[in-house]
Amino acid sequence: MAQREIILPTLPSFPALGGGSDRGTLLAGLTFVECANSGWMARDLLLWLGSNAELFGWPGPPATVTDPSVGTLALHPGVRFTAPHVARAQDLSKLLAMSRWQVVLTLRGLLSGDDRFLKGAIFGGRVRRDASASAWLARPTEADVLSDIILSLFAADILAYRNFHEDNLCVCDVCGRISYNSKVTGRTGCSDHLPASATSSGVRDRREADTVPPPPTKR
Ligand SMILES: [Zn+2]
Repeated sequence: MAQREIILPTLPSFPALGGGSDRGTLLAGLTFVECANSGWMARDLLLWLGSNAELFGWPGPPATVTDPSVGTLALHPGVRFTAPHVARAQDLSKLLAMSRWQVVLTLRGLLSGDDRFLKGAIFGGRVRRDASASAWLARPTEADVLSDIILSLFAADILAYRNFHEDNLCVCDVCGRISYNSKVTGRTGCSDHLPASATSSGVRDRREADTVPPPPTKR
């Protein structure tokens, strides 16, 4: 098989996010949404999961991932597990697409005021307040469905920086990209799918302008 470049789990074009080291949770979530539909193979997902395991409070990447409509898929050959619905290795791209789309739909709901997933994450124990740092931590279990694992990253950041998300969140209607430059893209566009009323003037680096949140105001 031809060698292919492994997509790095963090985007090198992201400069440091404002607001403290805890913005790494948002960065990890954005990286998944940005990259998971770009042809990720199991090793790419393992790399992303492994590099963010500490954010989740895990010792390492999980051996399996689950989407309710696709099933549970082993990330290593020979992993023994039981699940009601076992997915095949070739289902990975579908599992990633379904998980990513669930994240996009949920965050799109937030734009119209539906924040039930935040309560779900809290009551489900997938986010937890860190008393010492007054921050929120993503704490999903390795058995949670993949979209809930990704959403726990967004939930932790939204709970800590609610105003920032309410003021800046954009969810592209076309490609689902999550970004934070609503002045340029509107709430339903991205740098590649600008709303008809927007112009590209003043957008120096479209990708950077689109994906890098400005320093937030912590509530
Ligand atoms: Zn787009």
